[in-house]
Amino acid sequence: MYVYAQPSSQSAVLLSVSSGQFRLIGRYETFTSPVAIWYRVDTHRDTAGQTSSVSGWVADTVFNSLEPCIAPTGVTAGDLPILDSNGNPLVTPTFTPTRTPTYTPTPVNSIQAIIDDLATYGLTVFAAGVDSGQSNGQAWTLVELQQLQLGVQNIASAFNRFKYSDQSGTNSSARSLFASIMRNTSPVSNLKILRVSNSFSFGGGDNCNGTTDAGCTSNANNAIALYGTFYFNVSNQVDITKAQYTIVHEFGHRFDNQSRVGVPAADSLFGRTDTGFIFDCQSGVVLGRIFGSSDWLRGIRGWGDTVNTAVPPYHSDFQQNAAVDVDSVEIGEAVADMFLNWVYRRITDSAPTGDRCTTSVQVGTWQGFRNINGSGTFDATLPGNARYWWMEEQLAAIFAQHNTWQ
Ligand SMILES: [Zn+2]
Repeated sequence: MYVYAQPSSQSAVLLSVSSGQFRLIGRYETFTSPVAIWYRVDTHRDTAGQTSSVSGWVADTVFNSLEPCIAPTGVTAGDLPILDSNGNPLVTPTFTPTRTPTYTPTPVNSIQAIIDDLATYGLTVFAAGVDSGQSNGQAWTLVELQQLQLGVQNIASAFNRFKYSDQSGTNSSARSLFASIMRNTSPVSNLKILRVSNSFSFGGGDNCNGTTDAGCTSNANNAIALYGTFYFNVSNQVDITKAQYTIVHEFGHRFDNQSRVGVPAADSLFGRTDTGFIFDCQSGVVLGRIFGSSDWLRGIRGWGDTVNTAVPPYHSDFQQNAAVDVDSVEIGEAVADMFLNWVYRRITDSAPTGDRCTTSVQVGTWQGFRNINGSGTFDATLPGNARYWWMEEQLAAIFAQHNTWQ
């Protein structure tokens, strides 16, 4: 009688045993010891055909001989027949399969699943909105968390494309790159994303205090807080699909803060935007100070869409805060919107390479930084390209100064 077995790391082996000693009818396992190969018999039965569930460790010496061979056609590991002396199956084992319980998938769209996923991006989110001990939190809804996750993935994709020419926003490099940029580094601690009511306060006179129905990034508290109904469309109507743009804008404020860690303030994205100029293809100023004026201007051309800065609500998808008041506020808000526009154009268009005045000579079907004037029609001086190329240049310099972002 012959019994075939197939150790996982070897070819099938033929075990020649004395008739009546053992018949393998079930599965087996094997491991290699320094002195001998052992086979574990999960189920065996004797020559009388009695089945036993007794498992035993059987040394190869029991079988007298052990030699490599090829398993018969159709025989796979774990399903090895007992063969008679002619090599034909002696017994065809039949198994009554254990009934497989009805599979109940764990919903990947659950609030906790998203919170767990966001943790791998270096973000801490509380289902109740705020940490225990804090008051005036507001429990996340699933659709809000999905918008947060979408915004994070879009940013991570933009970073991954920029740094590694990899479009994924969800692979390990995207997650670690995002985390290394956005979370606190000294000591390392996650950035908190809080969901709060309009009554929420960080305390201590934080600049975010008093915020209503909007996002606010409090770098002093290592947090982004999303207040009340923070998602509105351009007509100031509640629209959950707009939440991602507000969220990415807030991450723009966070990115600006991270860009100034350990470097002169002038090298932050704010510093570069404050002193920089963006020129269109006919040397017109798109952003910055017009010659002879000290007033800094964010400009109305080259954004992903238009906004009427004379009539409320002064915002759109790609101009979340078109404040045109004091420069310190105006520049900070423009920085966050520049980041927002860069993220979306980076993930919906190719990287800005080549001559910006002779490539992409169109309004653009991409999102963010389109070649439009303040009325939303084609601007042949290509202000969207001007903003896009300029941001890419600044980010290259900023990333070079922060080589721990990886
Ligand atoms: Zn803002």
